[in-house]
Amino acid sequence: MNDHWGHCKNCKWWEVESAEAASHEPIGYCTEEDLQPFHLRVTSSSGCNCFVSLNDVEREKAAS
Ligand code: SF4
Repeated sequence: MNDHWGHCKNCKWWEVESAEAASHEPIGYCTEEDLQPFHLRVTSSSGCNCFVSLNDVEREKAAS
């Protein structure tokens, strides 16, 4: 768990299930290990404090 809250759409743990019609938000599953037992299905604007920034992950990959 992190100290900061973030949106699923920018989270490492979000797996997009479908890009719904323009009038609906994209929906996906949360794959964060501790949350997996809950089988969370979340929209792009959902979020929590287990958030891990995709930008940080990309930066770490580029640096290695
Ligand atoms: S519920 Fe939390 S951990 Fe899961 S994808 Fe959304 S922000 Fe990430």
